[in-house]
Amino acid sequence: MSGLLEVSGLARHYPVKRGVVLQKQVGTVRAVDGVSFDLARGETLALVGESGCGKSTTARLVMRLIEPSAGTIRFDGQDVTNVGGGALRTLRRRIQIVFQDPYASLNPRLTVGEAIAEPMAVHGIGDAASRRAKVEELLRLVGLAPFHAARYPHEFSGGQRQRIGIARALSVEPELVVCDEPVSALDVSIQAQVVNLMKDLQARLGLSYLFIAHDLAVVKHMADRVAVMYLGQIMEISDKRTLFADPRHPYTRALLAAIPHPDPSRRGRVTPLGGDVPSPMAVPPGCRFHTRCPFAQERCRQEIPALREIAPGHRTACHFAETLPDPGLDYSGGLT
Ligand code: SF4
Ligand code: MG
Repeated sequence: MSGLLEVSGLARHYPVKRGVVLQKQVGTVRAVDGVSFDLARGETLALVGESGCGKSTTARLVMRLIEPSAGTIRFDGQDVTNVGGGALRTLRRRIQIVFQDPYASLNPRLTVGEAIAEPMAVHGIGDAASRRAKVEELLRLVGLAPFHAARYPHEFSGGQRQRIGIARALSVEPELVVCDEPVSALDVSIQAQVVNLMKDLQARLGLSYLFIAHDLAVVKHMADRVAVMYLGQIMEISDKRTLFADPRHPYTRALLAAIPHPDPSRRGRVTPLGGDVPSPMAVPPGCRFHTRCPFAQERCRQEIPALREIAPGHRTACHFAETLPDPGLDYSGGLT
C-alpha cells in the first residue's frame, strides 16, 4: 500500500481572550497538540478517544476546513498545508466526509436525489442528466432502490439515511473518506450493516478511511490500524491486532477494559479510569495522562514521554511501556 495521507506535527491552538475592549489573552486551548500519522491507500486508520480528545478537530484540519497552528499535511505526495484556490477545491473533492448524524447533515428540503447530486453540482461534474444517472448508480451501490431518489430524508430510517450520506460522499469519487462517528447514532444491529457496507465499498472502490470513534468496540472490525488520542495527542498507534491483544499504554488498556468482552476471563485486571479528562486549556505537565494513570510516578509528572516505537509499527507514549504489569487482557478474539 502506498502513502495517501501524511500528517506531521499537526496542531490547532485557540487563544482564549477576556475583556470587551482590550481583549487580553488569558490562555490557550490545545485542541490538537502535535499529531503525526500516515494513511496508506486502501487502508482504514481509526482515531479513537473520549469526547474532546481532538479527533474531530484532526479530521477537520486534514480536510482543510480549519487552519492548523503548526504542522504539515501531505496528500498523495503533495504538501497541501497551505494550498488555496483550485488546488484546495480539488483537495475538497478528493477528501469527503460522512457525518455522525445523517439527519442533521441532509437538507430536509432537498430530495434524496438532489442531496446526492449536490456535491457533483458544486464541483461542476457532469450535466443534470448524467448526474441523475449517477445518483441511481450510487443508490444501488449503497443498497437502496433508485426510485428513492424522489423521496425526502424524513421518509427514511437512520440506517437508510446513513446510506444516503455515504452515497452523497461517494458522488464525487473521493479517494479518502473521513468518517466522523458514522455509526454512533445507530442501533447496534444497524451499525454492523453500515460497517459491512463501508468495508464492501472500500474493497470495491479502493477507498481509504479515516474513521473517528469514541470507543474501541466500533473500530474492531473496521480498522486496519488504530491511533488512540488523549488531550490532543496520540498515546498509542499500531496495527489493530496488536492494539487489541497487547496494548502498552495504560489509557488504551482502560479504554479496552471498558468494553464488553465475550469471554470475561480475557478481560484482564485493569483499574477503571478515575477522574475527568483535564481541560485542554490546562494540559498537565509531563505525561498528560498522569492525573488519571494508576501507574504514574514522579518522572511522569516531570518528563513528557515521546511517542516511541516499541515494536515495528507499534508506537506508544509511556515511559514504562515495556515494564508495566501485564494485565492479562486480550480483546483480539474474532479478528482475522
Ligand atoms: Fe502513566 Fe507514566 Fe506511562 Fe504516563 S508515562 S501513561 S503517567 S506510567
Ligand atoms: Mg467529535
